Amino acid sequence: MLETIVALATPPMRSALAIVRFSGDDCFKVVSKFFSKDLNDIKVNGIHHGFVLAGTETVDEVILLTYKAPHSFTGEDSVEIISHGSPLITNKIIELALKNGAKLAERGEYTSRAYMHGKMDLVQAESINDLINAESEESKKISMMSLKGQTSDLIKPLKSSLGDLLSLIEVNLNYPEYTDIEEANLDKVNSVCTKNIEYINKLIKDGRKGKIIKDGINIAIVGKPNVGKSSILNALLGEEKAIVTDIKGTTRDVVEGKFILDGVVINLYDTAGIHESNDLIETKGIIKSEETLKKADIILAVFDSTSFDEEDKKVMGLIKDKETIVVYNKRDLINKEKEKKDVLYISALNKDIEPLKNKIISFLGLTKENYENPSINNSREIGILASIKVSLLKALQDAKNNVPIDLINVSIQDAYLKVLSLTGEDHDFDIANEIFSRFCLGK
Ligand code: GDP
Repeated sequence: MLETIVALATPPMRSALAIVRFSGDDCFKVVSKFFSKDLNDIKVNGIHHGFVLAGTETVDEVILLTYKAPHSFTGEDSVEIISHGSPLITNKIIELALKNGAKLAERGEYTSRAYMHGKMDLVQAESINDLINAESEESKKISMMSLKGQTSDLIKPLKSSLGDLLSLIEVNLNYPEYTDIEEANLDKVNSVCTKNIEYINKLIKDGRKGKIIKDGINIAIVGKPNVGKSSILNALLGEEKAIVTDIKGTTRDVVEGKFILDGVVINLYDTAGIHESNDLIETKGIIKSEETLKKADIILAVFDSTSFDEEDKKVMGLIKDKETIVVYNKRDLINKEKEKKDVLYISALNKDIEPLKNKIISFLGLTKENYENPSINNSREIGILASIKVSLLKALQDAKNNVPIDLINVSIQDAYLKVLSLTGEDHDFDIANEIFSRFCLGK
């Protein structure tokens, strides 16, 4: 039996209304102990008006929603009390719940119970967190697709194709007397693995793009002092966040800011100018800048349109292995005729930064499909996809080397289990069930 859990579902602050949520086998019994109506015989979902009582004291007049298992978010008996939004009231309700046998819900416990009761798979459960943390409309849209199960649907072709192959091999190996069943030969392994590797490649590619829309990206602005890094940050953010002066070394710490470009949250980091310095605080800033560089997805390397010297060369050296956008600032100080082709010029001073924004957008390479279609876009899921691919490449290589099929089957089984782990179905995997669901053996 699962204990009844309780938690405040709305922010812990004063508001018009607040919701305290309960879930668990004993939930109606627990709540009945401090509600003005007996809920013990509730058989269907319903809405009730009544009072929360602490002995003879009326804590609040509330609306109470009952959900009868399995027709609730968690799949268990559940209650939601809609009270007035005073922390004094909600704290009292929670206190009464704890006194009467409930326990405080742990982080994510409602969702994990929903997953446990088969209300959603792991991909959907993970998307709830993404949905709550979404910072842009597009990010929210992508997370909603996952919650609705559209992302999980992308896994189905992999699951059915590899499950079919695995069952076919098992039947061939274990039931040689069934002669009317297709032969599981190396050609079959070859074609199924090749097809699925191609599919995984596409899933990973789309997933990485989806991840950018969902999580945003980190851009670090680097360059020697005074090239205009802080000015660019301010121009992109549309506010004066970083201090701009013509005194070298003004930015001593990493200044951060975020803005949304084409629906993507861009986290900007303006780093202290990277150069030799005897100033202790500035030196610390420079070390921090180098750490920021490591974390960044994209580097925005800034140079001055009027000059390029040894210090700029050092900056070039620092970023050579990174995805970098190179920009020449202070274009207002040079003659238009002097501008070189294929070089990105801007003027942060004149807010002439549209070319840079366009460059960032094209650099991300997002298409209409990336925004509109579901994708397998969280790090855990992308990591598993990459690992399934490794198993399939091994099977493919073995098939090419004429390795016996029972040995190749180890890699196929490995890949299949990883596919199941994407949605969290791997814990009750049973090879016999897989075979019997496909072939009517021993009927
Ligand atoms: P940082 O040290 O690289 O962050 O550079 P800042 O943004 O602090 O700018 C250094 C100096 O360059 C300031 O005096 C800015 O006003 C000036 N500056 C920044 N961008 C431009 C630009 O596009 N054109 C001109 N003419 N000056 C600029």
